[in-house]
Order: sequence, then structure tokens, then C-alpha cells
Amino acid sequence: MRRILSVLAAIATSVFPSTAFAQTSPQSHFDGKTWWDHVKVLADDNMEGRETGSDGLRRAQAYVVEQLKKSGVEPAGSDGYLQSVKFVERHVDESHSSAALVQDGKSLALVPGDDMLFSSKNNTGEKEITTPLVFAGYGLKIPEKNFDDLAGQDLAGKVVVYISGSTSDVPSALASHYSTMGERWKALRAAGAIGIIGILNPASMDIPWSRIAVNRLHPSMDLAGPEFADTEGLKISLAFNPAQAEKLFAGSGHTFAELAALAKDRKPLPHFPLPASLKVHVAVQSSELESANLVAKLPGSDPALKDEFVVLSAHLDHLGIGEPVNGDRLYNGAMDDASGSAVLLDVAANLKAHPEKLSRSLLFVFVCAEEKGLLGSRYFAAHPTVPQKSIIADINIDMFLPIVPLKFLEVKGLEESDLGDHAAAVASSLGVKAIPDQEPLRNRFIRSDQYSFIVKGVPAVKMDVGFILGSPEQQIFKDWLTNRYHAPSDDLDQPKDLAAAALYEEITRRLLIDTANSQARPQWKANSFFRRFAQ
Ligand SMILES: [Zn+2]
Repeated sequence: MRRILSVLAAIATSVFPSTAFAQTSPQSHFDGKTWWDHVKVLADDNMEGRETGSDGLRRAQAYVVEQLKKSGVEPAGSDGYLQSVKFVERHVDESHSSAALVQDGKSLALVPGDDMLFSSKNNTGEKEITTPLVFAGYGLKIPEKNFDDLAGQDLAGKVVVYISGSTSDVPSALASHYSTMGERWKALRAAGAIGIIGILNPASMDIPWSRIAVNRLHPSMDLAGPEFADTEGLKISLAFNPAQAEKLFAGSGHTFAELAALAKDRKPLPHFPLPASLKVHVAVQSSELESANLVAKLPGSDPALKDEFVVLSAHLDHLGIGEPVNGDRLYNGAMDDASGSAVLLDVAANLKAHPEKLSRSLLFVFVCAEEKGLLGSRYFAAHPTVPQKSIIADINIDMFLPIVPLKFLEVKGLEESDLGDHAAAVASSLGVKAIPDQEPLRNRFIRSDQYSFIVKGVPAVKMDVGFILGSPEQQIFKDWLTNRYHAPSDDLDQPKDLAAAALYEEITRRLLIDTANSQARPQWKANSFFRRFAQ
């Protein structure tokens, strides 16, 4: 508590003469405590990790609806606050699946969990498939940069092996876009490939392989319906453990160590056929599942602008119950993303307690199935419950990590639109410096729900508590990812900085109100790659 007061006081004196602001509006509308109170409910064991389609998520949704009603935020789903979303759930039956590398008549079995894991996107059919392998660098085709890992190679009927990442001359947003499964596969399929083996780049792994492997049998989901099918023609999809990746390169004249060293520095990678073939069969079972997004609105008052919406989004789902880590199998998802959902609730409650004049309307969107690949937001962006063209901006909050004091606000999308400029200006007015993505290899611009809005043409930002590379804070974030990200220890029993959360909420609130009230809609920058999606 002492820490909150001292940080807020420090900010206050640095920005305003303290007597002046004390008599006008409060410097901050938040204390961090009400935020954490919501997190405590949403990440309680009773919510069972809020798996998409689960009773736990439904209980969390019931809490959200109850809070929204209290805040006087109106239902704006297709059925009250709800928007139903249908999924196909898939899981790999490992006991009836197999993969091996075949070379010189010898077969080397690949062990699921140790060597690699089968993605549930596999569609090998009934029969075992044997196919040649080609190493294609980062496996990317980026026309804007004349970058083509696939050029001049015979990929017809083959599986492409690649290391995740990109070269340093490709801007991170651009690299991120072409690294999505849909974009990547579009290029590979056009080149004739029938599958992929993605080797995780050791330089950019958020989660150690052991923790990825332990939950590999957790079902995956896809949105139901042909409009969302973006991996047609994909027969084989494996994720490879970098610690075992030398196996793929045996006899090729290259080592994985040599390639990983280039990839770490984002240097160009060579392309070459691999001597081994892959023999593979994957059994995948599927079933249908239903879940929901929650949508609520706070109407604006300007006759000309109130039918336009500024979206504030966060995902309510998390990973549910999985394999135990240190004896705990409940993945509470306190930071990921009860923390973001709690900001939405807290901001809504605050706008009830301290109303503001709003020209445009605000739309609070709590999506499901983010952890399954941004599916709830993708569905919402494709079938919004308000007219698509009326959505002018998305401010998305996902795991903003108030675990150190908020001095730097890392804004994904900072340089892409004037929404980024506004975010920086608001942060600056509160003594916080906005910085661009410090770790482009982590692809975070496409890794949360803002991306679903971006590809529909909506300028978006995702803001996080940030750090400067090489600072002690960097290690704190690194440790958090290694130990808590997507682990049961992302629970209520972890350090958090309530003052940082409060300041973050204040920035969010101001950006939301400024965007709702500014005369012009946010615009993509003329040189932004994402401008192409604008409608
Ligand atoms: Zn997550």
C-alpha cells in the first residue's frame, strides 16, 4: 500500500503541481485494488482455469455479466450479452499415431513429447505417408521485402522444415503477419508443399519445451465453418523440439547448431534438401463444441458519432485443467488474461462512478478461445454484433504484466497508426514513456486478439508494462515467462504491482475516452503494412 501511494505521488508531482490537480479531477481513477479484486474472482480455483466451452468459463462469464449490469453497461451480444461461437475440437490419439525419419533404409522413430509433437492440424488420412523433407530457412515468403525462402526449390509433395523467426531487415509486424499459420500455409501450399515441420527457435521460446510437451495432448480447437478453414491441403504438421533437431539434419552437411546461431541473430538461412524422409501417420479425433463471447456497450451521445464504436477487448478464457506442474494442475490464468478482463470490468465500473462525456460508443468485448488461436475474436471480427464499419479502433489488453513499476509502456502497433501516437501521448501525459516492441522475434503483434481486428482493417494497439533491453526488469519478465507463463503458477499467489496496474488502467481509460471523443477516426500510417486491410 505504501508503494502505491509513493508511486502515484511521484507521478503526480512530476506532471502537475499537486495543489492544482488535487482540487480538480483526481490524478488517477484507480488504486489497483479494485482491479485485483476482479482478478481474484476470475482466477479463483472455482473457475477451473476458464477453458473454452467449460463450466468454469461459464461461471466466469456469469460474474462478468453481473458486474457489467451493475456498471450499467448494456448488452450488445446477439443473445443478451452473449454471442455464441461454434468450434470443432480436435485431439491427437498418440497411441495410434507414429512418425519416423527414414534414411539409407534405416528408420529412426520420433518420440512424441521428446522429439516433437503432432499438431492436431494433421490430416494424414487412414494411411501412413512417406514424404521427402526440404529445409527452407524461415519458411516465409514476404513479397514486400522480396524475401522468398521458397524460391527455386522443388517443394511439390514435400514437407517443409523451417525454423521460426525472420531476418532482421523485415519489420516485426510484417514478419509476424507472414508467420501466421494462414499466411504461411498459403505460400507453402501454392508452392506444392503438403506439410510442415516447424522447429521452435531456441532464441525466442517463451515456454521451455518440457512444459510445451507436457500439455501436448490437450485438445485444440478451430472455428466451425468453411469460411474459417485456412489450412486446407495441410496433411502433416509437426512442431520439433530444438534440442533434438540435429536428427533432422544428419548427413545434410549442415548442423542445427549452425542454423540456430544464424536464426538467433536473424540472419538469412540457407535452403537445402534433407537426406531423410518422413514416414508419418496421425490419428486425430474431432467433436463439436460451443462457447461464447460477451459483448456490452456504453452508448455515446453525439448524434453523428454515437453509432461508431471504440472496442476495448480482452480474453476471458484460459487453459483450464491440464497436466500437473509441481503438483498443481489448475491453470488459473491470473495474468493471462484475468488481468485484462478485470481492467475492462474496472474501467466500466469507474465510468459509472465517474461518468465522462462520450461522443462515440464504447464496446466491451470479452472473447473466448484466445488460447486456441485467437478464435473468439476472429469470429467476432468476422461477425460483429454491431455493423463492421462502425468499429473504429480496438484497444486490446492481454497479460499486460504489472509486475514492475510502469515506467515504459510497450505498445504493439505503436508505429502503425495514429492510435499508436495517441497511446504514446496519453502515456506521456502521465509520465510514462511509450516504446515499440522490444522483442520482435516473439511475434506478439499477431499473438493476441487485436490481430483479428487488424486484418479487418481496424487500427489497434496492445499495450503492456514494458522494459528496456538489458535492464534488470528484462530478467524479471524473462523469469516470469519461463516459470509462470501458461503454467499453473500464473495464479493469485504471485507478485503484482498494484500501482503499475492502476496507472495502466488510467492510461487505458484516457485513451478510450480520447479515441471516443476525437473528431477523426484513427488511421493507419501511410507506410504501414496493415493499411492494406483498411476497408
Ligand atoms: Zn495465453
